[in-house]
Amino acid sequence: MENKSELLIFEKSVPGRAGYSLPELDVPAEDIKKLIPEEMIRTKLDLPELTELDVIRHFTRLSQKNFSVDTHFYPLGSCTMKYNPKVNEDIAKLPGFNNAHPLGGDANNQGILELLYNFEKYMCAIFGFDAFTLQPAAGAHGELTALMMIKAFHKSRVASHESRVERNIIIIPDSSHGTNPASVAMVGFTPVVIKSNGRGNINVDELKKAVGEDTAGLMLTNPNTLGLFDEHIMEVAEIIHKAGGLLYYDGANANANLGLCRPADLGFDVAHFNLHKTFSTPHGGGGPGSGPVGVNKMLEPFLPVPRVVKNGSEYGVRSSEFSKSIGRVHSFHGNIGVIVRAYAYILSLGAEGLKKASETAVANANYMMNKLKGHYYLAFDRSCQHEFVISAKWQKEKYGIKALDIAKRLIDYGFHPPTIYFPMIVEESLMIEPTESESKETLDAFCDAMIRIAKECESDPEIVRSAPHDTPVRRLDETKAAREPDLKFTS
Ligand SMILES: *Cc1c(COP(=O)(O)O)cnc(C)c1O
Repeated sequence: MENKSELLIFEKSVPGRAGYSLPELDVPAEDIKKLIPEEMIRTKLDLPELTELDVIRHFTRLSQKNFSVDTHFYPLGSCTMKYNPKVNEDIAKLPGFNNAHPLGGDANNQGILELLYNFEKYMCAIFGFDAFTLQPAAGAHGELTALMMIKAFHKSRVASHESRVERNIIIIPDSSHGTNPASVAMVGFTPVVIKSNGRGNINVDELKKAVGEDTAGLMLTNPNTLGLFDEHIMEVAEIIHKAGGLLYYDGANANANLGLCRPADLGFDVAHFNLHKTFSTPHGGGGPGSGPVGVNKMLEPFLPVPRVVKNGSEYGVRSSEFSKSIGRVHSFHGNIGVIVRAYAYILSLGAEGLKKASETAVANANYMMNKLKGHYYLAFDRSCQHEFVISAKWQKEKYGIKALDIAKRLIDYGFHPPTIYFPMIVEESLMIEPTESESKETLDAFCDAMIRIAKECESDPEIVRSAPHDTPVRRLDETKAAREPDLKFTS
């Protein structure tokens, strides 16, 4: 990484220099005064003055100081920062998709409606569910949508006297993503957290004690955020169903499962998937995402409207015939551009390709975990799925070096750090997700850097504690940077 600091564009400004050439203003000054109120006429505008080339080079240099999947390995666990083929961007930009207008009417939108209809069918085939809504804009939004349907389902059972009580408890394991309890609370349910056992599974004995007449459901990520597949999932499903609850699948980790196992076959009733993680949309920085929700037959009547239907060879949009629907959760049909990318990705890989992507992601993670396990503490020593969690526990005990220090030192070696301090049930955790798209050379280079850092902890702990060294800025106060960003230039 280039370690030269870049002056601010204001600091580079030279009065009178310009990056444009416009014809002389031919509107007489008195006419301008007639057209624009006096107090709104400016004589000075405090903008930087540079040539076009200066501006291009400035911003190109700045962009190269950043990490991205296009420039660096990006092993951020739980986020699936995989390579997203550029051709999917081109397809999403095709004028027929890009210019389609949701108010154009069904007759003018047959192409996009067909795509939405087919995409729903593909998602059903891949994950085993009976129907999908494509409206939610992200995973968390999918959780909210699904929990609203679970609530509507239990309400309808009370109304029809199939159930006596309004169920209000959603059970969540302590390895869950923070959005799970947050969504539960937003819908007006109460989250109850169950501890994981020594193998990283949900503790079945604790679960048996927790279920009862008030159990509305269980939310589970499988593989979970430790990258571990729950070994008792069939038993867990049976316990929840026997108690009258529903099983929710947080599908953010579906990159491990494609073509290998389907959540609906494991007993899950409802699930969200993150198209921006598993199905080819770049994400980060709050860009548009998509969190489709799949349901079984029991929950289908509650899906959001409008829904895309097929009548003969015509596609159309319907709402009124779905009287039990929870209503709309997004304008029109959701983030269409993301769905088009995912559609292109699924079609280009095909069933075999999707399966191979998951198999490779899992193989890559296990390869790295085994290379690193003698050098870092591995809390759960069993084969992992598409990601794994190691810990800086040994380094902290011996040298006072934390996961944060190791993450910062990785930047000096040219790697984006993995996720740190999540999941919270492993102390000093580093959560690594290589994805399927990286070569063995890249995986080896990352592991070599991690092993070198482990050795530096012994030989030169200070260099790790004070990292990064080779970056435009050294270690920042991250809390202050996040809470009190100072983005204003004052000369
Ligand atoms: C990313 C993630 C979510 C939330 O999804 P968003 O699309 O970021 O809203 C939920 N659960 C898990 C396990 C995740 O990794």
